[in-house]
Amino acid sequence: MSYDTENIFAKILRGEIPCNKHDECEYTLAFHDIAPQAQTHILVIPKGHYVDMADFSQNASAEEQSAFIAAIGRAARLAGLEDGGYRIIANSGENAHQEVPHLHMHILGGEPIGPLRAR
Ligand code: AMP
Repeated sequence: MSYDTENIFAKILRGEIPCNKHDECEYTLAFHDIAPQAQTHILVIPKGHYVDMADFSQNASAEEQSAFIAAIGRAARLAGLEDGGYRIIANSGENAHQEVPHLHMHILGGEPIGPLRAR
């Protein structure tokens, strides 16, 4: 799948639409989800053009990959989620119901999140 430069997160990265920024570094941006699914719901994205985890894990540089992992941990820490715990999820592709085709990690916390899957 090729990268769609008109996806909503690409527009946020270009400053064309606003976001509620949480944290930023050279390689990543973290912001609050517009439709939170938990008391705290943060999205962490790489600044590079990567569609999903398959794309990122194969094509991102070692610096980008390590910065992304560090940014996820830092975002959770800055949000005060370490004591209570949190869940991280990256939907990748059709079966996972990925809606925005720019890699993003969801961080959910601030309250009990429940089982991994509702059955
Ligand atoms: P996914 O289904 O994993 O692709 O999740 C996409 C997420 O992006 C959803 O949780 C949306 O609520 C969130 N989202 C969509 N547009 C925006 C936006 N403009 N700002 C912040 N979050 C957004």
